[in-house]
Amino acid sequence: MANSQPNMNNDIIELQSYLSVPKDITIIAHRNPDGDALGSALGLRLFLEKKGHMVKIVMPSESPNIFNYLPHFYDIIVFDLKHDEARAALSQADCIFCLDFNGLDRVDKLGEVIQFSKAKKVLIDHHLDPEPFADHMFSDTEASSTCELIHTFIEDLGEADRIDEQIGNCLFTGLITDTGSFRYNTRPNTYNVAAKLKMAGVDDYALQDRINNSLKPKHLRLLGHCLANRMEVMEEYGAALIHLTREDYSTFDIQRGDTEGIVNQMLKMKTINVAAFITEQPTIVKISLRSKNDISVQEIASKHFNGGGHKNASGGALYASLDDVIAKFKRVIPHFLQKVEA
Ligand code: 5GP
Ligand code: MN
Repeated sequence: MANSQPNMNNDIIELQSYLSVPKDITIIAHRNPDGDALGSALGLRLFLEKKGHMVKIVMPSESPNIFNYLPHFYDIIVFDLKHDEARAALSQADCIFCLDFNGLDRVDKLGEVIQFSKAKKVLIDHHLDPEPFADHMFSDTEASSTCELIHTFIEDLGEADRIDEQIGNCLFTGLITDTGSFRYNTRPNTYNVAAKLKMAGVDDYALQDRINNSLKPKHLRLLGHCLANRMEVMEEYGAALIHLTREDYSTFDIQRGDTEGIVNQMLKMKTINVAAFITEQPTIVKISLRSKNDISVQEIASKHFNGGGHKNASGGALYASLDDVIAKFKRVIPHFLQKVEA
């Protein structure tokens, strides 16, 4: 039984009865799924299957292999690889759970399929400014992660006793990845959830080791290249940036997920409050932004880079040249940050 008093709002009451009969359910999370997108989707899948539902997971693009220890990782239907199967999984579902994203543009072309689907749509997410496309919205922008919200959702349904070690491993993964191993984005409930998952049997040390100590030599060489040759520090504004060219991608054999975490390195400097990581992709230039304390990179990403995310971690992309995006970042920064007195 749940320890906390279930939150019996109308959405929960309706879903309790809706989910009491077996349904065809499809879960989808955002493009370039991270530990939170994967952990929440796979954890929710296990829970719903225990309740007798038929569950599929669709992701717009492929997942980083470091998360392949999660149950059903290899059963995920990837839209980029299997267009028709992914569309069918969504269009045939009775119910679609949308996890860890706030707007239909975050799932590429599948956004249209969701928009026009007659299925019941449930959104569980923690990004700022969610779009109102779902029938049931569980949006909490103060939550550390969608995994934290999945735990609360299951508790509120009154089914916390179904959370076992396997589900725990999925949900704990999102807690770790979205809080940088409990360094940011935490609130008291984050630790409550972590404690309950550990009591359910999660080996948090093993998960931390898998997630944080999984680099290959090429990753550290790439990091060395970024820090030694590609980092610019705007000392007077407390900002820093790193860029990677298309040539860097081939020289260092950079694959999906290989640049994860590089942007955070710059915040290790005491005087740096905003960090940008700008990469030249085949058709777009992508920017990842991170900040400390009350500085909102979500504002920078949404106003200037066609993106969004969270206050301290956002991203976006432009159809522009690498040089133009770098120049734009440098131009925009003085409007957001006070000049630091020498
Ligand atoms: P990352 O920099 O790790 O790619 O993403 C950091 C955060 O920004 C994530 O929460 C992600 O959802 C959000 N984000 C990244 N890229 C985009 C984008 O192009 N558009 C929007 N709306 N959010 C993004
Ligand atoms: Mn998340």
